[in-house]
Amino acid sequence: MKIWLNGKLVDRGAAMIGVYDHGILYGDGVFEGIRAYGRRIFQCKAHIERFFESARQIRLTIPYTPQEVEAALRETIAANDYQYSYIRPVVTRGEGNLGLNPFACSQPNVFIINDHIQLYPKETYEGGIALIIARTLRTSATMLSPSVKSLNYLNNIMAKIECIDAGVSEAIMLNDQGNVAECTGDNIFIVKDGTVITPPASAGILVGITRAVVLRLARQLEIPAVEKNFKPEAVYDADECFLTGTAAEIIPVTKVDRTTIATGKAGPITKKLTQAFHQYTQSPASE
Ligand code: PMP
Repeated sequence: MKIWLNGKLVDRGAAMIGVYDHGILYGDGVFEGIRAYGRRIFQCKAHIERFFESARQIRLTIPYTPQEVEAALRETIAANDYQYSYIRPVVTRGEGNLGLNPFACSQPNVFIINDHIQLYPKETYEGGIALIIARTLRTSATMLSPSVKSLNYLNNIMAKIECIDAGVSEAIMLNDQGNVAECTGDNIFIVKDGTVITPPASAGILVGITRAVVLRLARQLEIPAVEKNFKPEAVYDADECFLTGTAAEIIPVTKVDRTTIATGKAGPITKKLTQAFHQYTQSPASE
Protein backbone atom coordinates (compact mmCIF):
# COMPACT_ATOMS: atom_id res chain seq x y z
CA MET A 1 0.00 0.00 0.00
CA LYS A 2 1.31 3.41 -1.00
CA ILE A 3 0.67 6.47 1.12
CA TRP A 4 1.10 9.98 -0.23
CA LEU A 5 3.03 11.97 2.39
CA ASN A 6 4.04 15.60 1.87
CA GLY A 7 4.49 15.21 -1.87
CA LYS A 8 5.94 11.70 -2.07
CA LEU A 9 4.49 8.20 -2.37
CA VAL A 10 5.91 6.00 0.38
CA ASP A 11 5.21 2.53 1.75
CA ARG A 12 2.75 2.38 4.63
CA GLY A 13 5.47 1.39 7.12
CA ALA A 14 7.52 4.44 6.14
CA ALA A 15 4.62 6.91 6.37
CA MET A 16 5.35 8.57 9.70
CA ILE A 17 4.80 11.92 11.37
CA GLY A 18 6.19 13.14 14.67
CA VAL A 19 4.52 12.79 18.04
CA TYR A 20 4.68 16.59 18.50
CA ASP A 21 2.32 17.02 15.55
CA HIS A 22 -0.72 18.92 16.84
CA GLY A 23 -2.94 16.61 14.80
CA ILE A 24 -1.94 13.90 17.26
CA LEU A 25 -1.59 16.02 20.40
CA TYR A 26 -4.82 18.02 19.98
CA GLY A 27 -6.81 16.67 17.03
CA ASP A 28 -5.82 19.91 15.31
CA GLY A 29 -6.35 19.29 11.62
CA VAL A 30 -9.00 18.34 9.07
CA PHE A 31 -9.69 15.49 6.70
CA GLU A 32 -11.95 14.14 4.00
CA GLY A 33 -13.47 10.74 3.28
CA ILE A 34 -13.86 10.11 -0.42
CA ARG A 35 -14.88 7.10 -2.45
CA ALA A 36 -13.36 5.95 -5.71
CA TYR A 37 -15.24 3.74 -8.14
CA GLY A 38 -12.25 2.37 -10.02
CA ARG A 39 -10.23 5.44 -10.99
CA ARG A 40 -13.31 7.67 -10.85
CA ILE A 41 -13.31 9.86 -7.75
CA PHE A 42 -16.90 10.40 -6.59
CA GLN A 43 -17.74 14.13 -6.32
CA CYS A 44 -14.05 15.00 -6.40
CA LYS A 45 -14.52 18.76 -6.63
CA ALA A 46 -17.08 18.89 -3.81
CA HIS A 47 -14.80 16.91 -1.48
CA ILE A 48 -11.80 19.11 -2.25
CA GLU A 49 -13.91 22.22 -1.67
CA ARG A 50 -15.08 20.88 1.72
CA PHE A 51 -11.49 19.96 2.62
CA PHE A 52 -10.32 23.53 1.97
CA GLU A 53 -13.39 25.02 3.66
CA SER A 54 -12.83 22.89 6.81
CA ALA A 55 -9.20 24.07 6.89
CA ARG A 56 -10.23 27.70 6.35
CA GLN A 57 -12.68 27.54 9.26
CA ILE A 58 -9.90 26.47 11.65
CA ARG A 59 -7.44 28.98 10.11
CA LEU A 60 -5.18 26.29 8.73
CA THR A 61 -3.61 26.92 5.35
CA ILE A 62 -3.18 23.80 3.24
CA PRO A 63 0.23 24.19 1.58
CA TYR A 64 -1.11 23.07 -1.82
CA THR A 65 -3.65 24.37 -4.30
CA PRO A 66 -6.94 22.47 -4.83
CA GLN A 67 -5.55 21.39 -8.23
CA GLU A 68 -2.42 20.00 -6.56
CA VAL A 69 -4.54 18.12 -4.00
CA GLU A 70 -6.62 16.63 -6.81
CA ALA A 71 -3.45 15.56 -8.65
CA ALA A 72 -2.17 13.98 -5.43
CA LEU A 73 -5.45 12.05 -4.95
CA ARG A 74 -5.17 10.73 -8.51
CA GLU A 75 -1.52 9.84 -8.08
CA THR A 76 -2.36 7.88 -4.91
CA ILE A 77 -5.25 5.87 -6.39
CA ALA A 78 -3.20 5.12 -9.51
CA ALA A 79 -0.37 3.79 -7.32
CA ASN A 80 -2.71 1.44 -5.43
CA ASP A 81 -5.12 0.59 -8.25
CA TYR A 82 -7.98 -0.89 -6.17
CA GLN A 83 -11.28 -1.58 -7.87
CA TYR A 84 -13.36 0.20 -5.26
CA SER A 85 -11.69 2.19 -2.57
CA TYR A 86 -11.77 4.89 0.04
CA ILE A 87 -9.46 7.91 -0.05
CA ARG A 88 -8.58 9.84 3.10
CA PRO A 89 -6.68 13.12 2.63
CA VAL A 90 -5.58 14.57 5.98
CA VAL A 91 -3.91 17.84 6.87
CA THR A 92 -2.56 18.35 10.37
CA ARG A 93 -1.35 21.58 11.97
CA GLY A 94 2.16 20.11 11.94
CA GLU A 95 4.84 19.78 14.59
CA GLY A 96 4.77 22.33 17.37
CA ASN A 97 5.53 22.42 21.07
CA LEU A 98 3.43 21.14 23.97
CA GLY A 99 1.39 24.37 24.12
CA LEU A 100 -1.85 24.87 22.21
CA ASN A 101 -0.65 27.70 19.97
CA PRO A 102 -1.32 26.45 16.44
CA PHE A 103 0.75 29.24 14.91
CA ALA A 104 3.88 27.95 16.64
CA CYS A 105 3.69 24.84 14.47
CA SER A 106 6.21 24.79 11.67
CA GLN A 107 4.62 23.24 8.63
CA PRO A 108 1.33 21.31 8.15
CA ASN A 109 1.68 17.63 7.38
CA VAL A 110 -0.44 16.41 4.49
CA PHE A 111 -1.02 12.77 3.76
CA ILE A 112 -3.40 10.65 1.71
CA ILE A 113 -4.42 7.09 2.56
CA ASN A 114 -6.10 4.93 -0.08
CA ASP A 115 -7.54 1.69 1.26
CA HIS A 116 -10.29 -0.88 0.78
CA ILE A 117 -13.67 0.45 1.76
CA GLN A 118 -15.51 -0.86 4.84
CA LEU A 119 -19.11 -1.52 3.92
CA TYR A 120 -22.28 -2.54 5.74
CA PRO A 121 -23.12 -6.24 5.14
CA LYS A 122 -25.01 -6.77 1.86
CA GLU A 123 -28.25 -7.97 3.48
CA THR A 124 -28.60 -4.74 5.46
CA TYR A 125 -29.31 -2.87 2.19
CA GLU A 126 -32.60 -4.81 1.99
CA GLY A 127 -33.42 -5.49 5.64
CA GLY A 128 -32.09 -2.21 7.00
CA ILE A 129 -30.13 -1.43 10.13
CA ALA A 130 -31.17 -0.62 13.67
CA LEU A 131 -30.27 2.64 15.40
CA ILE A 132 -30.44 4.06 18.86
CA ILE A 133 -30.84 7.66 19.88
CA ALA A 134 -27.63 8.58 21.65
CA ARG A 135 -27.54 10.42 24.96
CA THR A 136 -24.44 12.24 23.71
CA LEU A 137 -25.57 15.44 21.95
CA ARG A 138 -23.90 16.65 18.73
CA THR A 139 -21.47 19.49 19.39
CA SER A 140 -23.23 22.78 18.80
CA ALA A 141 -21.94 25.20 16.17
CA THR A 142 -21.14 27.64 18.99
CA MET A 143 -18.59 25.13 20.33
CA LEU A 144 -17.01 23.66 17.20
CA SER A 145 -18.98 23.75 13.98
CA PRO A 146 -19.98 20.24 12.88
CA SER A 147 -19.49 21.54 9.31
CA VAL A 148 -15.73 21.33 9.96
CA LYS A 149 -14.58 17.78 9.25
CA SER A 150 -11.92 18.01 11.91
CA LEU A 151 -9.56 15.40 13.32
CA ASN A 152 -11.41 15.80 16.60
CA TYR A 153 -14.13 13.15 16.29
CA LEU A 154 -14.48 12.38 20.00
CA ASN A 155 -18.02 13.77 20.09
CA ASN A 156 -19.06 11.22 17.46
CA ILE A 157 -16.92 8.49 19.03
CA MET A 158 -18.72 8.84 22.38
CA ALA A 159 -22.06 8.30 20.60
CA LYS A 160 -20.50 5.43 18.64
CA ILE A 161 -19.56 3.75 21.93
CA GLU A 162 -23.19 4.05 23.03
CA CYS A 163 -24.41 2.28 19.90
CA ILE A 164 -21.76 -0.44 20.16
CA ASP A 165 -22.86 -1.02 23.78
CA ALA A 166 -26.46 -1.27 22.54
CA GLY A 167 -25.48 -3.77 19.82
CA VAL A 168 -26.49 -1.58 16.86
CA SER A 169 -24.41 -0.03 14.10
CA GLU A 170 -25.31 3.67 14.22
CA ALA A 171 -26.69 6.25 16.62
CA ILE A 172 -28.83 9.30 15.99
CA MET A 173 -27.34 12.40 17.58
CA LEU A 174 -29.66 15.22 18.66
CA ASN A 175 -28.66 18.86 18.95
CA ASP A 176 -29.09 21.06 22.01
CA GLN A 177 -32.59 22.04 20.81
CA GLY A 178 -33.68 18.39 20.96
CA ASN A 179 -33.89 18.18 17.17
CA VAL A 180 -32.37 15.36 15.15
CA ALA A 181 -28.97 16.38 13.76
CA GLU A 182 -27.27 13.38 12.16
CA CYS A 183 -25.63 10.05 12.97
CA THR A 184 -22.04 9.48 14.09
CA GLY A 185 -20.74 9.12 10.54
CA ASP A 186 -23.80 9.51 8.32
CA ASN A 187 -26.58 11.99 7.57
CA ILE A 188 -30.19 11.02 8.24
CA PHE A 189 -33.35 11.25 6.14
CA ILE A 190 -36.96 10.35 6.90
CA VAL A 191 -39.85 9.98 4.46
CA LYS A 192 -43.34 11.12 5.51
CA ASP A 193 -46.39 11.16 3.21
CA GLY A 194 -44.18 10.98 0.11
CA THR A 195 -41.83 13.81 1.14
CA VAL A 196 -38.15 13.23 1.82
CA ILE A 197 -37.00 15.24 4.86
CA THR A 198 -33.49 15.82 6.20
CA PRO A 199 -32.24 18.23 8.90
CA PRO A 200 -30.88 21.55 7.58
CA ALA A 201 -27.22 22.59 7.94
CA SER A 202 -28.34 24.84 10.82
CA ALA A 203 -29.25 21.73 12.87
CA GLY A 204 -25.48 21.34 13.34
CA ILE A 205 -24.41 18.64 10.90
CA LEU A 206 -21.57 17.76 8.65
CA VAL A 207 -23.12 18.77 5.35
CA GLY A 208 -22.64 15.46 3.59
CA ILE A 209 -21.65 15.18 -0.04
CA THR A 210 -23.82 12.06 -0.39
CA ARG A 211 -26.71 13.98 1.23
CA ALA A 212 -26.41 16.70 -1.44
CA VAL A 213 -26.42 14.12 -4.25
CA VAL A 214 -29.48 12.37 -2.78
CA LEU A 215 -31.37 15.68 -2.47
CA ARG A 216 -30.55 16.43 -6.13
CA LEU A 217 -31.61 12.95 -7.29
CA ALA A 218 -34.89 13.21 -5.35
CA ARG A 219 -35.72 16.48 -7.09
CA GLN A 220 -34.82 14.96 -10.49
CA LEU A 221 -37.17 12.07 -9.74
CA GLU A 222 -39.84 14.60 -8.74
CA ILE A 223 -39.93 13.32 -5.18
CA PRO A 224 -40.59 16.31 -2.89
CA ALA A 225 -37.47 16.89 -0.75
CA VAL A 226 -37.08 19.43 2.04
CA GLU A 227 -34.50 20.41 4.66
CA LYS A 228 -36.44 20.80 7.89
CA ASN A 229 -35.92 20.23 11.60
CA PHE A 230 -37.66 17.30 13.24
CA LYS A 231 -37.74 15.58 16.63
CA PRO A 232 -37.01 11.91 17.44
CA GLU A 233 -40.79 11.21 17.50
CA ALA A 234 -40.91 11.99 13.76
CA VAL A 235 -38.35 9.23 13.17
CA TYR A 236 -40.35 6.67 15.17
CA ASP A 237 -43.42 7.72 13.19
CA ALA A 238 -41.76 7.91 9.73
CA ASP A 239 -42.92 5.93 6.69
CA GLU A 240 -39.26 5.32 5.82
CA CYS A 241 -35.86 6.26 7.16
CA PHE A 242 -32.41 5.99 5.64
CA LEU A 243 -28.85 7.21 6.17
CA THR A 244 -26.41 8.61 3.63
CA GLY A 245 -22.63 8.71 3.66
CA THR A 246 -19.57 8.08 1.55
CA ALA A 247 -19.14 4.48 2.74
CA ALA A 248 -22.81 3.61 3.37
CA GLU A 249 -24.12 5.30 0.20
CA ILE A 250 -27.84 4.93 1.11
CA ILE A 251 -28.66 2.49 3.91
CA PRO A 252 -32.23 1.82 5.05
CA VAL A 253 -33.08 2.12 8.75
CA THR A 254 -35.79 -0.24 9.96
CA LYS A 255 -35.63 0.09 13.73
CA VAL A 256 -34.91 2.97 16.10
CA ASP A 257 -34.63 2.15 19.79
CA ARG A 258 -37.51 -0.29 20.35
CA THR A 259 -39.64 1.03 17.49
CA THR A 260 -39.87 -0.71 14.12
CA ILE A 261 -40.09 1.84 11.31
CA ALA A 262 -43.25 1.24 9.23
CA THR A 263 -43.04 -2.25 7.66
CA GLY A 264 -39.57 -3.01 9.02
CA LYS A 265 -38.12 -3.24 5.50
CA ALA A 266 -36.49 -0.82 3.06
CA GLY A 267 -39.30 1.43 1.77
CA PRO A 268 -40.21 2.22 -1.86
CA ILE A 269 -38.73 5.74 -1.93
CA THR A 270 -35.50 4.53 -0.29
CA LYS A 271 -35.27 1.82 -2.97
CA LYS A 272 -35.97 4.25 -5.80
CA LEU A 273 -33.29 6.66 -4.56
CA THR A 274 -30.82 3.80 -4.04
CA GLN A 275 -31.31 2.63 -7.60
CA ALA A 276 -30.87 6.16 -8.96
CA PHE A 277 -27.79 6.61 -6.77
CA HIS A 278 -26.15 3.41 -8.08
CA GLN A 279 -26.83 4.45 -11.64
CA TYR A 280 -25.30 7.83 -10.94
CA THR A 281 -22.13 6.36 -9.36
CA GLN A 282 -21.55 4.41 -12.59
CA SER A 283 -21.77 7.51 -14.78
CA PRO A 284 -18.83 9.81 -15.57
CA ALA A 285 -21.01 12.72 -14.37
CA SER A 286 -20.56 11.51 -10.77
CA GLU A 287 -16.91 12.64 -10.60
N1 PMP B 1 -21.87 13.18 9.17
C1 PMP B 1 -20.69 12.84 9.71
C2 PMP B 1 -20.43 13.19 11.13
C3 PMP B 1 -19.72 12.18 8.94
O1 PMP B 1 -18.55 11.86 9.48
C4 PMP B 1 -20.02 11.86 7.59
C5 PMP B 1 -19.05 11.17 6.69
N2 PMP B 1 -17.95 10.68 7.14
C6 PMP B 1 -21.27 12.22 7.08
C7 PMP B 1 -22.17 12.88 7.90
C8 PMP B 1 -21.63 11.91 5.66
O2 PMP B 1 -20.93 12.77 4.78
P1 PMP B 1 -20.49 12.33 3.32
O3 PMP B 1 -21.73 12.00 2.58
O4 PMP B 1 -19.81 13.53 2.78
O5 PMP B 1 -19.61 11.15 3.47
